[in-house]
Amino acid sequence: MQTKVSENRGQALKPTPETRPFWEAAKRRELQIQQCHECGAHYFYPRPMCPYCLSRNVAWVTCSGRGRLHTFVINYRPPRHYASDSPYVIGIVELEEGPRLMTNIVGVAPDPKALRCDMPVEVVFEDIDENFALPKFRPIP
Ligand SMILES: [Zn+2]
Repeated sequence: MQTKVSENRGQALKPTPETRPFWEAAKRRELQIQQCHECGAHYFYPRPMCPYCLSRNVAWVTCSGRGRLHTFVINYRPPRHYASDSPYVIGIVELEEGPRLMTNIVGVAPDPKALRCDMPVEVVFEDIDENFALPKFRPIP
C-alpha cells in the first residue's frame, strides 16, 4: 500500500476555540501562551482554566520567545503522510516564562555533538501554508 504524502501540512491542523489564539499569533510571528490573573502562572497547552489554581481569569500573553532546550531526540524516520527532511530534531523547550512545549530545533545540525540540554534557544516561525505558521526554535549564538 502506498502512503499518500501531503504537501499541504496545514490541512492537518484543526484549531479549536481553545487553540485558535495560539495559531493566529503564530501567523503574526508572536509566540503566545496563557497567563492566569489570579496566581500569575503562565501555562501551556491552551485551556480555559488555570491548571494551578483553577481560575478562569486567564488571558493570552506574548512570550519573549526565548528559552532553554530541556531535552531532545533526533528522529531518523520521516513522519507518515508528510514530506520531511530527515533526520530532524524534536525538542522540549522550557520557555523563560516557565512552560515547556514540544517543537522542532532548527538552524543546527541534527547531530548530538551540536546540541546540548540547557542550551539557549529562540523562537522562529515557519510558514507551512497560507494559513498556518509553526513555532520552532534555534540556538542563540
Ligand atoms: Zn492560577
